[in-house]
Amino acid sequence: MLEKLQIRCLTGSGDVSANAYLVEGEGWSILLDVGAVTGHARWLSHLKNSPDLVWVSHVHADHIGALPELYKRYPGVEVVMTPTSAALCACVGRGQDRAVADVFDVLGQVSKSLNFKKTMTRRFGETCVRMTPYACGHIPGAASLLLEVEHGEKFHRILYLPDFSAHAQPLTPRAEFPVFDEETPLDCLIMEGMLGSDRVSDKLDYDKNLQSLVDGCEQHSTGGGQLVAVPSLGLSGEVVHALSEALDEVYVHDYLEPIFKITAPLLGELSWADRGVRFVTQPQATRMLMAGQVVVASDEHLQSGSPSRALFMSIVEDSDSRIVLCNSTRKKSFAGKVSATPQGEVFQQGGLRFRRMLDVEHVLLPNHAPRWALMGTVKLLKPQQVVLVHGQRNALSGLQGALRKVVKKKKLTCEVLVPGALDVVVVT
Ligand SMILES: [Zn+2]
Ligand SMILES: [Zn+2]
Repeated sequence: MLEKLQIRCLTGSGDVSANAYLVEGEGWSILLDVGAVTGHARWLSHLKNSPDLVWVSHVHADHIGALPELYKRYPGVEVVMTPTSAALCACVGRGQDRAVADVFDVLGQVSKSLNFKKTMTRRFGETCVRMTPYACGHIPGAASLLLEVEHGEKFHRILYLPDFSAHAQPLTPRAEFPVFDEETPLDCLIMEGMLGSDRVSDKLDYDKNLQSLVDGCEQHSTGGGQLVAVPSLGLSGEVVHALSEALDEVYVHDYLEPIFKITAPLLGELSWADRGVRFVTQPQATRMLMAGQVVVASDEHLQSGSPSRALFMSIVEDSDSRIVLCNSTRKKSFAGKVSATPQGEVFQQGGLRFRRMLDVEHVLLPNHAPRWALMGTVKLLKPQQVVLVHGQRNALSGLQGALRKVVKKKKLTCEVLVPGALDVVVVT
């Protein structure tokens, strides 16, 4: 008989850079995500024992970043993720130190792969727990997790729905949800709220924005090179797929090649090569830009040392060239500062100095659920409890208020919570 079922939020709701939520039963625990931006995740010190199992929703650093450190602490802990996520593990640590990269590689191999809609059952003492991942859009391999915890004759249900998207992308279909009804209700929904009160995203049309990116590249007529700067995991494949529909050839920096190889099965009949996608080295990419071609490279912030930064530097003083920055560019990042520099003006930072002549364009392609989709998800799944996580604190509070109104209007019985770090939510 189940006596205790609770969620210990090791990272707080307002934490946008790290996710770690511990589901605790009587004598067992399951860790949902292992997020950190750096290798020294402070939340790890609040984890008193090895979890019985670790679920990784997807391979973004804020969900997987501290996995090498956790694995060092608890060697042999069972790590579960989808096969695509496991394969992508080897691409996560690149650019970090060798030791971290190696551990990610190993973790990809030792982790247990659980495919979408396949159920894994574990018995912890007296309690039986069933786990089923569902595709949740966002990036290739990303999945929500349905946890069904045996409770006498019945099961308690928790759905962990981290980063998800309600719209389909060229490679990654939209989020899919399990079906709940009166017989099998959802007790607790742990849901992200990254765009919880973002009015811009609420009105955005992903397809239209992606098409305008493609049209812009196709119609560019000055003869200058075009650099499309993308985040490596996720959006890179979606943007290249869209470009390859319109252009004869798309040149992609070979830093992205391992990721593209892993996501190739999502393409259907035509391979990347069939679609005219050519992987090029840094020097080749520079030459392609000089020859007026379209080159796709990561990352979108033009961070120091990234392939996109070096390529950007090769065309920045050419007024015939342009750069397309995909997704929101943080104001404090190098790309943000460059964007803020008017065309024709001199940019200076540290030892760097150049005249920004190339054209800069931003395209917003969010792969998180906007507010309408977050609200719609709650209305659809009708959980007894909603635990809002992973968003700016004020965005989550705004979303909480809006959800409470909906609950009242629809006469639902649903509690909406925004827990802080180390708060415990008792699943009822
Ligand atoms: Zn993510
Ligand atoms: Zn995230």
